[in-house]
This record gives sequence, structure tokens and C-alpha cells, in this order.
Amino acid sequence: MASNTAPAIAVIGAGISGLSASARLRELGLQVQVMEKSRGLGGRSATRRIGHLGFDHGAQYLTVRESTLEKVLAPLIQRGVVALWEPNIVRLASDRMRSPGREAKRFVGVPGMSTLSRSLRGKSVVTLGTRISSVARLDDRAWTLSGEQGDVYGPFAGVIVTCPAPQAADLLADVSPDLARACAEVEMLPCWATMVAFDSPLQLDFDAAFVDDEVIAWAANESTKPGRSAQPECWTLHAAPAWSRDHLEKDADLISRDMVERFLDISGASSAEPTTRVAHRWRFARSAEPRAYGNLLDPIGRIGVAGDWTRGDRVEGAFMSGFRIADQLAILAGEMSG
Ligand SMILES: Cc1cc2nc3c(=O)[nH]c(=O)nc-3n(C[C@H](O)[C@H](O)[C@H](O)COP(=O)(O)OP(=O)(O)OC[C@H]3O[C@@H](n4cnc5c(N)ncnc54)[C@H](O)[C@@H]3O)c2cc1C
Repeated sequence: MASNTAPAIAVIGAGISGLSASARLRELGLQVQVMEKSRGLGGRSATRRIGHLGFDHGAQYLTVRESTLEKVLAPLIQRGVVALWEPNIVRLASDRMRSPGREAKRFVGVPGMSTLSRSLRGKSVVTLGTRISSVARLDDRAWTLSGEQGDVYGPFAGVIVTCPAPQAADLLADVSPDLARACAEVEMLPCWATMVAFDSPLQLDFDAAFVDDEVIAWAANESTKPGRSAQPECWTLHAAPAWSRDHLEKDADLISRDMVERFLDISGASSAEPTTRVAHRWRFARSAEPRAYGNLLDPIGRIGVAGDWTRGDRVEGAFMSGFRIADQLAILAGEMSG
């Protein structure tokens, strides 16, 4: 439990890594303030609402290998806010060949992936709608953060930056050149996501597909996930990285049209008419070459970096990176106040 005299740590970003770091810091007795530029939690693991429809437009599900995450998920599964999703999953090629998909236990938030972020947030203080534009050293014991409107936050005894690597590099350039350099080396690929609904079910013989195609890489019937409504039938489509990059600045409406047409063609449901069709551009979706980084914490400055890209580009990696850096920073903050 955090006391009022405990050192305060700033976390930039309320995605899975930032919320995991915040939860862990609080568990270790520190005060935390999370700053998030969007109006909601979850970052790339958020659920997008379009009218009364919900789409997991980023992360589709999470897989779990680490016991630390397993322990956090167990009570959420018991409460029904996280559940197993067991789709009939196939590999689909543009020549319409189907083969079974990889076996894995896939978990989803109920009724959307955002419930995972809301659960991780717990009682953490999160300031939404605030983009941090700079990080500055106040003196050798404290940091301040500035927002775009000239608003200043702090002092903080430590800072954890959890934005995607290229954005983290910009924030760190002046205050921690070594960390900034490590972030700047990471290439992150974009992804166009299209959310599409059909009043009449497509009646396809699969729930989700990894697609070997130039345009579409993934398709999932959201309505087959636990706790979602069956009508209308909602699908999330993800475009292939190269196609997303080549069409990154194209009009979103044209992108969604092209993606839906292509998906219907490949899946064999080409006569279906969508009732809703919206595209979302993820500029920094996944790193080009996923890898695991060692320690991304500057122990003297008590400033560090976390995020999925530091541990394998998945929800679980994001969670573990936040958890681990919180452990390391809590030790340093304890030494400082002791
Ligand atoms: C299309 C797509 C599909 C995916 N599918 C899967 C999947 O099926 N399974 C899986 O395990 N993983 C999947 N992933 C990966 C997963 O979404 C990520 O690993 C995870 O959500 C990353 O969490 P994070 O906290 O590291 O980063 P983010 O979610 O990106 O969080 C960073 C946060 O920082 C905020 N931010 C950025 N700059 C600032 C600033 N200057 N000031 C304040 N706030 C700022 C952002 O708004 C964001 O909320 C997918 C990702 C994408 C894009």
C-alpha cells in the first residue's frame, strides 16, 4: 500500500506495460502517476467502440507462458473479466486453401480486451488526455514532466517511459542518450486494422484466420469471443505489414473498403454487404525484429524504458516488461529514501 511519504514515480503511457508497472510499484509501496495521451486505457490492447459495437482492433488475445502473469490472470478469470477463447482457427491462403492454425491457449478480456487494462489499473492514478512532450531533470534527485499545453507534473523520484520505441527515443533524447539510442535502433512496423460488421452472418467455416496474402494478414470473428453479442457479426481484419507501410497515408475509408473486399474474396463470402466499416491506422504496431532486451534502466538517473518491444512484442511481453522494471526501480527508490 502506497503511503503519502513514499517516493512518487511517473509512468508515461497507460498501455499494458505502463499499467503493469504502475500496479507493481503500488504493490511495492510507491506512489505512482500514470500519464496517457489518449482518452482511454489500453493502448494497442484497447477495445474500439463504434456505436454499440465493440472491436478488439489491436491485440486480439493474449497467450500466457510466465507464472507471474498467470497469477495476475487467475482471479480475473474467476471473476469472468478474462476468459478462454477457443476459435476454430485456420491458415488461409489467397487460393482459398485452408489448414489448421497453431494450437495455443488464447485469453481475451470480456466483453472486450479493454477490461484487462481496467483491471490492471486498479486504484492507480491515471491522467488521461495528456501527451507528455518533454522529460526534464529538476535536480539530481527529481524529475518533472511537461505536457503539450505547458502543464508541468512532478517532482518524481523516477520515470518509466512505455511508449512505442520511436516515441520513447524522442522523449529520452535530451535526458538519457544511451536509452534513447537503444530505442532509436528499433524499427516498428505499421498495421492498418479494419473493423467491419454484417447484419447477416457470413457463415464461414472458421472463426479466425492467419492469412497468407499480400493485403490481409489476420481476420477474426469478434462475435465468437466470449461475452460478445452474436448480432451483428463483427470482424476485425489486420493488414500485412508491407501493405500497411505502402498504404500508410492513404484515406482510411478507401483502406477499409479494399481490406473488406479482399477478405470477402479470399474467404468466399464476396456477396456480403457490410453495415459498418471503419479503418484504424497503427503507426507503431509491432517491431520488425522482435527480440528481448536486457536492462533498460539508468540506475543513476532512475529513468527507464518498458514496453512490449523490449520483450517479444506481445501482451505478455508488455506486462512482464512493466512488472520487471517496476521491481528494479522500486529498489533504487528505496535506497534513495532510506
Ligand atoms: C494490430 C495489432 C495486433 C496485435 N495482436 C496481438 C495479439 O493478438 N496478441 C498479443 O499478445 N499481442 C498483440 N499485439 C501486440 C500488443 O497489442 C502489444 O504487445 C501491447 O498492447 C503493447 O503494450 P505496451 O504497453 O507496451 O504499448 P502500448 O499499448 O502502445 O502503450 C503505450 C501507451 O503510451 C501512450 N503514449 C505514447 N506516447 C505518449 C506520450 N508522449 N505521453 C503520454 N502517453 C503516451 C499511448 O497512447 C499508449 O496508450 C498486437 C498489436 C497490434 C498493433
